[in-house]
Amino acid sequence: MIIVMRANATKKEIQDVEERLYSLGFKTHPIYGEVKTVIGAIGDKSSIDASSISHMPGVEAIVPIMKPYKLVGRELHKEPSVVDVGGGVKFGGKELVVIAGPCAIEGEEQIYKVAEAVKASGAKILRGGAFKPRTSPYSFQGLQEEGLKLLYQVKKELDLLVITEVVDTRDVELVSRYSDILQIGARNMQNYRLLSECGKTKKPVLLKRGLSSTIEEWLMAAEYIMSEGDSKVVLCERGIRTFETATRNTMDINAVAVVKELSHLPIIADPSHGTGNWRYVSAAARAFVAAGADGLIIEVHHDPQNAASDGPQSLKPEVFDELMQGLRPIAQAVGRTL
Ligand code: PEP
Ligand code: MN
Repeated sequence: MIIVMRANATKKEIQDVEERLYSLGFKTHPIYGEVKTVIGAIGDKSSIDASSISHMPGVEAIVPIMKPYKLVGRELHKEPSVVDVGGGVKFGGKELVVIAGPCAIEGEEQIYKVAEAVKASGAKILRGGAFKPRTSPYSFQGLQEEGLKLLYQVKKELDLLVITEVVDTRDVELVSRYSDILQIGARNMQNYRLLSECGKTKKPVLLKRGLSSTIEEWLMAAEYIMSEGDSKVVLCERGIRTFETATRNTMDINAVAVVKELSHLPIIADPSHGTGNWRYVSAAARAFVAAGADGLIIEVHHDPQNAASDGPQSLKPEVFDELMQGLRPIAQAVGRTL
């Protein structure tokens, strides 16, 4: 990093900053200009609190040289990562990965019906919430362990990979026993203890973008997971809060190109939560595939009108099938397969 000293910084102030940096393990290289002095500091900034230097007398600004997300960023890891989630399914390769299924697991008949349909249409991973992070405490909260068992049963019988959300550190071990991939929802993107606990399992993690998070905050959340060791993370753009009320959220299509430039991690899109309306899901899905997303996660329900959660944004199986067919030429046009 570079420490820029104020124009009127005294020799003593410059010396104090150098000494502080030195005590923190940095090598310092001051450049004394006619008006201002800047100090180049070489060392690992990740373990220090930069504000302890920025508040020192005579300091004007601190300019970081490296991105703060070292494991997630592309500076030290140039090649894009391919995240292998088992069963021959890989995010970030040539083949796009589609995850589909109901918002919530409601019962045996429902999850089987939807699972069979989405598999027949080409989805490789079945989604289904067992612990639902609902806005209201009075809304359906999910079947919890009973739901996990159903998901696991379907996984075995239909030979599908499964993903489900974990909302609490207390459930990480339980959910890991049943699910191939752990989903961290938008509301928990900055639940740092949860991120770390999921990272420790070494299971692949799908990290959704927070409702009001910047891309940098999202990448820092991924860094928490990755910093637990050899963790596999896939990012998911699911729309952010804006002033627009016509849709549930506003999908940030720019995030795909930005994330691909800043990070080596794969990124997929969730047009179901991103739009909140089944009528807009297919258009957004097509746009994200064209933009270079590595896959999609889509809510599908055989009876959306009676779904326990997120019915209005759930596609009927036949609409999902049409979407999958329509995506194939777009995938091909951008050098991918589906
Ligand atoms: C979900 O996938 O069902 C969900 C709750 O998504 P999000 O965390 O993006 O709101
Ligand atoms: Mn949902």
